[in-house]
Amino acid sequence: MDNKGQYECELDQKSPNRNLAPITTEIDQNGRLVVGGCQLSSIAKRYGTPLYVLDEESVRVSCKSYLEALRTHYKGESLPLYASKANSSIAMTKLVASEGFGIDVVSAGELLTALRGGVSGERIFLHGNNKSDQELLIAYEADATVVIDNHHDLERLKELVSKRTKPVRLMLRFTPGIECHTHEYIKTGHLDSKFGFDPDQLDALFKELIDYPWAILTGIHAHIGSQIFELEPHQDLAEVITETFCLAKKYGHPVQDMNIGGGLGVRYVVSDDPPSIQDWIRVISTAVTKACKIRGLQLPRLMCEPGRSLVATAGLTLYTLGAKKSIPGLRTYISVDGGMSDNPRPITYQSLYTCCLADRPLDETDEIVTIAGKHCESGDILLKDIGLPKPLSGDILVVFSTGAYNNSMSSNYNRIPRPAGVIVNAGHAELIQKRERPEDLLMYDVLPERL
Ligand SMILES: *Cc1c(COP(=O)(O)O)cnc(C)c1O
Repeated sequence: MDNKGQYECELDQKSPNRNLAPITTEIDQNGRLVVGGCQLSSIAKRYGTPLYVLDEESVRVSCKSYLEALRTHYKGESLPLYASKANSSIAMTKLVASEGFGIDVVSAGELLTALRGGVSGERIFLHGNNKSDQELLIAYEADATVVIDNHHDLERLKELVSKRTKPVRLMLRFTPGIECHTHEYIKTGHLDSKFGFDPDQLDALFKELIDYPWAILTGIHAHIGSQIFELEPHQDLAEVITETFCLAKKYGHPVQDMNIGGGLGVRYVVSDDPPSIQDWIRVISTAVTKACKIRGLQLPRLMCEPGRSLVATAGLTLYTLGAKKSIPGLRTYISVDGGMSDNPRPITYQSLYTCCLADRPLDETDEIVTIAGKHCESGDILLKDIGLPKPLSGDILVVFSTGAYNNSMSSNYNRIPRPAGVIVNAGHAELIQKRERPEDLLMYDVLPERL
């Protein structure tokens, strides 16, 4: 069997979310895999494994595609935001901000990261269904917009900022009641969701907000879920959110921003076939434009907030193969030097991935193996029953599409240090995250004297 079929699909140069590998992926003269001009096995040697690798060009191309599609298909103003929970670091924030994106954050940590990445407060939006006082205050002081999710947000803000001179800018998140086909845990737009105000609460809420001189409602927000491969849910959402936008206007709120959320899917395995960034933006822009026209509404500033589709396929993880266990007639396990602590998606969502050997990507497949993580958990399996060309201990394994929700969901389970991260571009690999050391993990331990 030829190994290529497992990960070769036509390369989309403008919509990286449709590819398995970063757009700069090449095979050098010796048949080795190269990304961002860097031979993967050499950077594994230089920085150690597990190693997160981020291809700068893929991220930039994704950002440019969003911006260009908005310019082409939407006649009003627009501002795309990066949902930084997908992969939050100072370098990543700086990168997407330099392309003209604003930033979504969901915690004080992500907010501080965005500020350190040089993003100005008015381009930062704080989400969350249970924001702390500390988070609200940091957002307020930084001049960020708070996306209110429930009455608790309002009560806390009233307490914290109503006596201050500067008003707080708010957007309002509501649950649009739209179903989409994705994993149960990553659906957010159906009515039984922990996120956002229920549509039934909106009239009373818009009325209440008008009485608060310390708050300015600048826009309406909805997000329906993640890793979505259909275009219809967002088309439907445009209709529902425009209706809510109109309602806010009717109550006299100075709303200008309409945020349609994120959720565009990416390719993890060859059979995944997500829409392109261009198609996603075109469908949304057309639907919003139409819904506004019907209601005689001036076009709002259109926002969207992709996370996964901006960064997933720009990233890959390098591991070193180690122990092998063959159970005759059953299965062969090969273990890597990482696993569920650096990529919790397989054990959490049964997510599928694609991999190959860094130095023999195109060799014939002659073994079906299961790639196991090194954690003390039988479910710590990264890829099940995949074909590889006679994998040997010491070989570097490349797992593709790990740029989103890997590093940002990582843990120290089993007290395993987090990997290092590098960014690659034009033959240079540079560190963007230092490798943790085992002793770093003891930093916050405290030993009471009486012990
Ligand atoms: C997670 C999330 C996003 C990003 O979703 P992706 O599927 O990664 O694009 C955007 N907005 C909100 C409110 C989110 O919670």
